[in-house]
Amino acid sequence: MTTYNIAIDGPAGAGKSTIAKKAAAKLGFIYVDTGAMYRAMALYCLREGIRREDEQAVEAACPKMAISLKYQDGAQQVLLNGEDVSGLIRTEEVSAMTSAISVYAPVRQKLLELQRELAGEENVIMDGRDIGTCVLPWAQTKIYLTAGSHVRALRRYKEQQEKGLMCNLEEIEQDIIERDYRDMHRDIAPLKQAEDAVYLDSSDMTIDQVVDAIIKEAAKRGLEVRD
Ligand code: C5P
Repeated sequence: MTTYNIAIDGPAGAGKSTIAKKAAAKLGFIYVDTGAMYRAMALYCLREGIRREDEQAVEAACPKMAISLKYQDGAQQVLLNGEDVSGLIRTEEVSAMTSAISVYAPVRQKLLELQRELAGEENVIMDGRDIGTCVLPWAQTKIYLTAGSHVRALRRYKEQQEKGLMCNLEEIEQDIIERDYRDMHRDIAPLKQAEDAVYLDSSDMTIDQVVDAIIKEAAKRGLEVRD
């Protein structure tokens, strides 16, 4: 069976996960959040006291981490050596560590195989930074989803506030700018729009408008969509 794959790439806070989750539920696809996998690896490194600059230590840690996904009521859980760490990987500390270690080849290689395997087994909407360009260059539909950095920071700020976490809008915007810079300028699998990706700026769009736009693009590219 050939699976149908939708790749969504874009910078931090563009709304990729919210939108991919909703579109997956509408289409009956599996949602794969690849950022969560990188985050779980970063959490392992933080717990082990590995410094982000210490490439050798990060590389040596790679074989010791087993990353897998589990789905409960449609929600993705990421397991690190069998432990569900989904609730521990959304802090700013983990975000910064993640973009620092995701520049290293062994880190990316480890997750590439797992991501391709998942997409070969099921119809997936996979979001990340390099899905359309490196992980699934054959994906039938590719979306590059972005929004202005201030809009993205504001979204993150509201998310953190809703969780009751202390946060500062300017710091969040600065972190996002730094993280995007690192993600776009690394040597391996940098964040960039695939040539055949559809560019969507969500700054002035509602979640439902973006979801509908993505489903329309998939329908144009051979996906049978039932109302
Ligand atoms: O998407 P999310 O913000 O959870 O991703 C966290 C970090 O993981 C990104 O800033 C990026 O450095 C890294 N990442 C990546 N490739 C992906 C997904 C995430 O390098 N496919």
